[in-house]
Formats: sequence, C-alpha cells, structure tokens
Amino acid sequence: MGLIFKGFKGKGTFPRGIHPQEQKHFSADSAIEVLPAPENVLLPLLQNIGAPCESIVKPKQNVCYGEVVAESKALISASIHAPISGRVMKESVTTLPNARHVPAIPIKAEGKQLEGTDLWDDIFGGEWPKKFNGEFTPKDINKMIDDAGIVGLGGAAFPTYVKITFNRKKPVDTLLINGCECEPYLTPDYRVMLEAPEPVITGAVLAGIATGAKDIIICIEKNKPAAIDLIRKKAEGTNIKVAVLKTKYPQGSERHLIMAVLKKIVPLGSLPADVGTVVSNVGTIAAVARAVLKKKPLTHRVVTVTGGGIKNPKNLLIPIGVSYGELIEYCGGLTSNAARVLSGGPMMGFAFTDFNMPITKGTGGITLLTHEDMEKAKETNCIRCGKCVDVCPMHLIPAKLAQAAKYKNVELAEKYDILACMDSGCCGYICPAKIPLVQLIRMGKAMVQAKRKNRME
Ligand code: SF4
Ligand code: SF4
Repeated sequence: MGLIFKGFKGKGTFPRGIHPQEQKHFSADSAIEVLPAPENVLLPLLQNIGAPCESIVKPKQNVCYGEVVAESKALISASIHAPISGRVMKESVTTLPNARHVPAIPIKAEGKQLEGTDLWDDIFGGEWPKKFNGEFTPKDINKMIDDAGIVGLGGAAFPTYVKITFNRKKPVDTLLINGCECEPYLTPDYRVMLEAPEPVITGAVLAGIATGAKDIIICIEKNKPAAIDLIRKKAEGTNIKVAVLKTKYPQGSERHLIMAVLKKIVPLGSLPADVGTVVSNVGTIAAVARAVLKKKPLTHRVVTVTGGGIKNPKNLLIPIGVSYGELIEYCGGLTSNAARVLSGGPMMGFAFTDFNMPITKGTGGITLLTHEDMEKAKETNCIRCGKCVDVCPMHLIPAKLAQAAKYKNVELAEKYDILACMDSGCCGYICPAKIPLVQLIRMGKAMVQAKRKNRME
C-alpha cells in the first residue's frame, strides 16, 4: 500500500472496518441500459436529508420533462423536477423503505418522452470541457447546483449545493470525489466511471472552482482497476489526482475516506468542511457537470438491480419516481429462491415488501437476497466475543447499544453514544451469533431522537 499511496498523507485505509464478500460480479460487467419511459412516476416530497419540499403543481396540470414540481425555502433541502412529461394527478402518500410516510406527487406520462440513446445523450452525452477560463464563478455554479435539485447520489442524499460552496470562514483546501463504492453488490458508480468518465472529470473541475479547493482527488478502491485506468487517462491535462485505496468497508464513508487519504480526523459532531474538505460522490459530480453546462436538473440516476434473487441483474439509467416493482420486472422478475428485497446494499440497505414504492434520488440499487443468503443469518445468543467492537469504524460498543435498544433503556443508549453510529452494518456482518445489531441500533437511535425532540417541545 505504501507505494500505491505515494503522494498522499493518509495510508490508503483506516483503522477497523471489515472485508465483506464483494459480490459485485452479478452486475459489474453489465453496461448501463436505459429503462423505457414508464407510464407513471411517483415523486415523494422528501428525497433529501433535511426539510421536505412543498408541491407547486396542481392536479390535472401538465408538466414538461425537467420542470420544477416541488421546492422548499429551507436551507437543507433540494427541489424536485418532473422526470417525464405528463399530467399531475392527485397528491398521495407513499412509504419509503426506511418506513417514513411522506406526501408524493403522481405524474401520468403523456405525449412524447425522451428515451433510449436520446435520453442517454441528454444525461451523459455531448462535450465535457476540462478547462474553464472564468466562464463560471463559484456563486454561479452553486446556484445552478441548487436550481438542479442535486443531492448526494451515494446514498446520503445531502443537498449538494450546501456542500459545494465557497465559504470564506471555512476555506476548503481539498475536494475528494468518492468512487470507492464499498457497499457489496452495488455497481452504479463503477459503471458511471467506466461509461461516463468525461462528466465526472468536468464535474470535479467545476466543483473545484465552486469550493476553491486547490487539490482535487478522485478516490477509487483497488478492486476497480478498469475504472482507475480510465479515470486516470481522462484526468490527463487537469490538476486532478487519482488515489487508489485499499478495498475495505466502509471506505466510502466520508470520515473514513478523509482519514484514509488525508490522515485528518473529522471529530464527532463536525463536518468534513470543518477540516477543510468536501467529499462528493462520482455520480453526484456528473450531475453537477450536467446542471452547469446543460442547465438540466436531476431527474434520472443509475441504479443496480442485483443479487442471486433476480433473474437478470442489470445497471439501469432510470427516471426518479419509477417503482421498485417496475425495475424488478424489467430485470426478468425474482428467481424461485429469492427471499429478501433490500433498498440499497446488504450493509446499509433497508428490507421492504411493497414493490409499489418509488425509487428516490438517494437509491443506488436493489439487492435481492436468496434463501441461502438468509440461512447464513440465523440468530443465536451473544457469545461475548467482542468482534463487533473490534470492527466498529466509529469505535462504539455495538453489543451494548443493541442491548440498550432491545430493553428500551434510552439513558444507557445515550451513555454509549448511540447517535454516533453511522449505520455501517460492520457489527451485524461480523457477529457470529447473527444478532440483528443494526436493526436494534437503528431502533435505539429513533428512541433517543424521540426523547430529545420531546425535551425540546
Ligand atoms: S455500531 Fe453502528 S457504526 Fe458501529 S459497526 Fe455497528 S452499525 Fe457500524
Ligand atoms: S459480535 Fe455478536 S456475539 Fe460477539 S459480542 Fe458482539 S453481539 Fe455478541
């Protein structure tokens, strides 16, 4: 690793963490297919971390592809745009995979839709310059990202304009573009790096201008050599560096990436910007390039449908708001031994059963596990082996947190810093007793948050 990591302060890895089976083989070699335009989409009014949007359209109103349909005046929010042309239907309520109920705008497709290669060209095609001579100020770029409703496509769904901004009080010296994709099974970022590297490079250059970062580093795990070679080639002629990191989970988590590349610690309760760093995912940065150069909002994203439980695993370019069920059907449906459906990957994903739910901006994939996968996960009693403690990237005591949550002991959960848990899933993965640690800890976090909210009211 020393040689590979020459030129960076970090060691290309971080303490603790795990090495889960990668399982990328299901979809890594499948080129991105453009999903045919759906007949309907459903747009939840909350698709970002932060405040929900409010609808600005009325039932029976016609909307065009790319038109704003919902916005918010809150600082931490991101507007929502129509991914198809059509007619707005009566507002409804949908459930998200994390069990939140949110209002949603249904749109029924009407008229001609952008599809196939035309849609691909609209999203990823065209000219992507690598140099700008003052055409865009940091303020211009920030405003265009805000107008485009872009959020972090790596799963966090944090509004991008809040991150990619110039802040005189907290200057940013380094921009890390995250192409690690450490979550097992999922491959959308890998395919974007292979099939649309130009907008990734252009987006990185533009985000560098917007933040004022002097160093731009695209970070890729060692297990993606084809993406490393291509991104290096495409970055020639720019000041962008490529960092090749050790393959380890959760390497793609912001604070662990910053430690691995820059050897900087982001203290609990602080943000990367507090240590002069901004981290943005490769798919997000490609959307930034499109928003700035084509003035187009975030309406589509790449998702992976994968695992032993789906007949034909694929990477798909899809409109936001299409249902999970439609993607599963497009991939040939479930295999006879499919047992569990996850929104996201097995480490940070959520199990769900309602296939009518819509895909949101932060959804990177659908993982379909088999009965054999589940068989390996039968629960027994804790054997006090301490393995969960050894792997926790946040230096917590997962067994204690899970116990506190199980017995609804909110004080104990707080005492052991449950809110510092980043849902990495490392503890649940390593636990030989197969205790559902992550689910219990998520429940405990919700209890602590509810208690704190009550205290404030
Ligand atoms: S306690 Fe949270 S952060 Fe620590 S390993 Fe478990 S899920 Fe990950
Ligand atoms: S890894 Fe599992 S069995 Fe071992 S101490 Fe943690 S909870 Fe208990």
